[in-house]
Amino acid sequence: MRWLFLFLAFSTIATMAVLAQDKSTPNAPAVPPGWMTNSIAKLEQELAAKYGEQQRPRIECGLQQVSEFWRSEDGDATAFESFVRTNFAGDQATLDTMFDRYERLLEQLSGHMHEIRREFRQQTDLDAGPVLPFDQVFAGYDPSAHVLDDFFQNKLAFTVLLNFPLTTLDQRLKDGPGWTRRQWAEARLAEGFSKRVPADVNLAIAQASAQADQYIAEYNIWMHHLVDGKGQRLFPPKMRLLSHWNLRDEIKADYADAQKGLAKQRTIQQVMERIVTQSIPKAVINNPGVDWNPFTNEVRPAAVNDADTQPATDVSAAPEAGARYGVLLNVYAAAKKVDPYSPTASTLIARRFDEDREIPEQRVKAMLEQVLTSPLVPQVAKLIEARLGRPLEPFDVWYSGFRPGSKYSEAELDQMVAKKYPTPEAYQKDIPNLLMKLGFAPERAQYVAANIVVDPARGSGHAMGAEMRSEKAHLRTRVEKSGMNYKGFNIAVHEMGHNVEQTFSLNNVDHTLLKGVPNTAFTEALAFVFQGHDLELLGLPAPDAKSQSEKVLNDFWATYEISGVALVDMAVWHWMYDHPQATPQQLSEATVHIAKDIWNRYYGPVFHKNDVVLLGVYSHMIDSFLYLPDYPIGHMIAHQIEEQMKKAGSIGPEFERMAKMGDVTPDLWMIHATGRPVGAEALLEATSRALPQAGHP
Ligand SMILES: [Zn+2]
Repeated sequence: MRWLFLFLAFSTIATMAVLAQDKSTPNAPAVPPGWMTNSIAKLEQELAAKYGEQQRPRIECGLQQVSEFWRSEDGDATAFESFVRTNFAGDQATLDTMFDRYERLLEQLSGHMHEIRREFRQQTDLDAGPVLPFDQVFAGYDPSAHVLDDFFQNKLAFTVLLNFPLTTLDQRLKDGPGWTRRQWAEARLAEGFSKRVPADVNLAIAQASAQADQYIAEYNIWMHHLVDGKGQRLFPPKMRLLSHWNLRDEIKADYADAQKGLAKQRTIQQVMERIVTQSIPKAVINNPGVDWNPFTNEVRPAAVNDADTQPATDVSAAPEAGARYGVLLNVYAAAKKVDPYSPTASTLIARRFDEDREIPEQRVKAMLEQVLTSPLVPQVAKLIEARLGRPLEPFDVWYSGFRPGSKYSEAELDQMVAKKYPTPEAYQKDIPNLLMKLGFAPERAQYVAANIVVDPARGSGHAMGAEMRSEKAHLRTRVEKSGMNYKGFNIAVHEMGHNVEQTFSLNNVDHTLLKGVPNTAFTEALAFVFQGHDLELLGLPAPDAKSQSEKVLNDFWATYEISGVALVDMAVWHWMYDHPQATPQQLSEATVHIAKDIWNRYYGPVFHKNDVVLLGVYSHMIDSFLYLPDYPIGHMIAHQIEEQMKKAGSIGPEFERMAKMGDVTPDLWMIHATGRPVGAEALLEATSRALPQAGHP
């Protein structure tokens, strides 16, 4: 679902959702009409006689593909047969014309749909005055929501399925390296029509997803209401932290609090564990009306009022008892409804790994385990212990002490940036210059800069690429009245990296059906390359070796942490598929078991403590349809690309060469870019070089 993916992404999570075939589901597609077998046999003979025996394999494949998606409402035997006779491209010239025209028109379709969406979001995305209620509705509208349905109805989708083969990941991996670029583009064209998910299934997924998002969005802990045995409060009034993001970030921030940091971190760990095990009292979620001791699990009416609400009078310590896993089971049940409509990837797990990531699950698992079992883990752990002056505790999976030092204070940098960039226009004008500093030839710098429009962002900033060649990429950046500050500049440089990638991978790729990069990890990695050079772009010296090694160690430790989290996410989805009738309580017990098991295997020996459940706390696990493995893979990819840039010496030409490869499998892209498939080696090698720099004990 590649070329469709971008414009459907807003409306249907179905394209992201993935699960296993269950014949009992009421949503199973209608059995093919009874006449189908006869019609196929007849047409195969007829077309082979007309176009020649050498066309037979194409004819067989096309008929098979069309029959898999054809429903009785698409027409009877006569309609089917006449559709096939009319639309089978039996000679190369017709096939070429068909391919070219689809490629051009689909570019127009996704390009203009994207253009509408960008315009409709303008008021909410840009710093352009108040947002009125109807602006929100425009921003939420997706003009392309029904495109796929329409294309099956008017049979443009069937024409593709009749003439271009669907492929499995296995084929793309095995045969893909030998394919021509046209074959790759054909594979992406067909993939756009590899599912025909009924509207009610998409709706079920959207509903389950919205419900999960809401459950997560309201999962706040009122920190001032956490009390210890003596009734003491460690956290300030009004502090409200969203699980798990804010809780985790507070653990990271608490390393700077020499007095109470450790007690705070232990308290948060206790809160997180109660969320995972579901022993957390329901009454303490998003409720400043009660005080809670997370160690004893005692709940009382709030003795302080920091939220302008009355303390609760009726307090219960009844646990949440599985509600979290009930939400996840709903997500699973909705995702599973797509299975029967996705013949080439019939489980959510397969859709995630085989279609979205295009790296087989077993390989991803092996890459994660390579990091988790690396002999570097205990060495970095020892370094952290030395810096902390105490043995590791489980929450130290979020240790935040690897920090690049800077010669300049943030205030000094703010001043430099504000002087250089008082307005978005000033930044826009400087883009060719910035690109030349990154090693782009003057002509390339001018060319790319002409394809980027700088807009003032309402939020912190983002990049919005184009979807057709006649459109430009947009760089949204925040500029205060006093001028741009350093944080804004740092983000703008990152977003500019996205825009440059977007420009090359759309305008300079040989087929627009191959526009883009294999997945978001790649565009992020390329953007980080730019961002890592922001000081040089200000005319300051590059970060020194010590600074760089701190950054590598920070990445390594974060990858170690999130690799375990990803394995939990994967194991939980497998468990759900293996136990389709499970209750929330059973899923709760299974998740706790899985989280402990993975902890004991990869973290227990390092932290000298077993049976910790922290790896199960990520909110993505509940609402994001098996998204978590993208994070560790992203870190690995970023290091591979960074290493290659260092080897090449100059960023510009190397960046263009990589970005022009387009949307092929991650391994093929990475072999073209660096000579090696996607893997953990670059990160591990950088870590072993960084350790001595960091004062490894
Ligand atoms: Zn980014």
